[in-house]
Amino acid sequence: MQKITTLVLKLALTAILGAVLVGCAQPQPQQSGATATQSDGRDESAHQSGDSQQDADGQSQPDQGQQGAPEGASAVEIRKSLNITEDFRDELIHGEKPAEFQKYIVMHDTEGEGSAEDVVDWWASNGNLVASHFVVNKDGSIVQCVPLDNIAHHAGFGDAGHNELYGVTDESRDDKLGTSPIGDWAPDYGMNSYSVGIEMVHKGDDHEEYPEEQLRAVDGLIAYIDAYYGFKSSIIDHNDWRTGNSDTSEEFQPYLLNLQQSRTHDGS
Ligand SMILES: [Zn+2]
Repeated sequence: MQKITTLVLKLALTAILGAVLVGCAQPQPQQSGATATQSDGRDESAHQSGDSQQDADGQSQPDQGQQGAPEGASAVEIRKSLNITEDFRDELIHGEKPAEFQKYIVMHDTEGEGSAEDVVDWWASNGNLVASHFVVNKDGSIVQCVPLDNIAHHAGFGDAGHNELYGVTDESRDDKLGTSPIGDWAPDYGMNSYSVGIEMVHKGDDHEEYPEEQLRAVDGLIAYIDAYYGFKSSIIDHNDWRTGNSDTSEEFQPYLLNLQQSRTHDGS
């Protein structure tokens, strides 16, 4: 996109770049520039993921273990089967999200090579206050930086009309701190108040494949979130919420379909 320099394309490009960057918040050199600032501001919904296992378990400890929990396992058991490190950041919390407001799981790509740990540090330091609840490394390890029952700005602004379309009209619980409108075409912010964000370390530009370990960790996280709430949230990707957004990447689409239909990336 940087090659495009004509004035005519500039406006469109700005919108596209904004959308692209919004979705994924990873430490990237280009984000320090003007473009990055814009996109970050728009996105506001970087991809952040953190949940409150704490809440689920009543305690918070990084659990490590093999992937996979027995069928019918409790949220606590599933969480323990995942390699989750809690690194909660108060500044990335934007309000309460009681269970009755949980409706969606939004999938994101970080669009960078940085580790989940680095991504969380980036979110906590760049001033945009954007984050997803969870970030999943390529090796399947996971970092959670926002509790499940709290709002994180991972979805950012969505297309006009999407609050109604997705049934996420109550934005009153969101403090909106750090947000910056991206245009009349995308004024809706409700998704953040009704969802959990899962970010995968992945760079779409390279068309790289998602490692099996990472995909299995995503399966586990979704099983955990389902068990935690006692119902299946609808799974969407960031691009569904905001048209033109880059994430998730094309390579993820078959997995997304399987996740939506069977809650596992391979449809098993
Ligand atoms: Zn995203």
